[in-house]
Amino acid sequence: MARYRDALCRLCRREGEKLYLKGDRCYTDKCGVERRKYAPGQHGQKRKKLSDYALQLKEKQKAKEIYGVLESQFKRYFYWAEKKKGVTGSNLLQMLELRLDNLVYRLGFASNRRQARQLVLHGHFHVNDRRVSIPSYLVRPGDIIGLKEVSKKNPVIEENISRIEHRGLPAWIEMDTGSLKGKVLHAPERDEIELPVNEQLIVELYSK
Ligand code: SF4
Repeated sequence: MARYRDALCRLCRREGEKLYLKGDRCYTDKCGVERRKYAPGQHGQKRKKLSDYALQLKEKQKAKEIYGVLESQFKRYFYWAEKKKGVTGSNLLQMLELRLDNLVYRLGFASNRRQARQLVLHGHFHVNDRRVSIPSYLVRPGDIIGLKEVSKKNPVIEENISRIEHRGLPAWIEMDTGSLKGKVLHAPERDEIELPVNEQLIVELYSK
């Protein structure tokens, strides 16, 4: 199945805002949006007024790009979110946040979600002491995410871990920096998820 492999900064420039897809670089003045505040391509500098539909589509694109999820999978998440009790938009974001690759990123083992996906695929992580190499694996509250013993010496992971303290952790997860194990304390509430996405517009889009 096709996966986006072009320059990530183009995605942010197309959306006209920072989606923080590259980790630390996003916080520097090398950021593509900071340097060129217009969309990529020949007509990128033209201003366009967006219709309601285009705005809804834009929010969905942003969420997909941030979490690196393809359309069919994203639709599936929406379907599950609708079936669950509670607010559909918050359920959707909660599910995306509980993906293993997202947690590996949130816990600071990876500098961005793309890298987290790659590290999970390469089998570096355990969930409750069992190896899991599926990036979309949904972690549950109480689950412990740990590193394979040899992976603690992986230079990329080591480098990311050395910066954990600068990054800070969301309140719904905790990390033991001694054993390098992270724990999901509870499923995140909407106000605990820092994300530049208006999920209500996504719900409106899929409810048509
Ligand atoms: Fe987006 Fe990060 Fe690139 Fe800036 S550096 S444009 S936030 S991916």
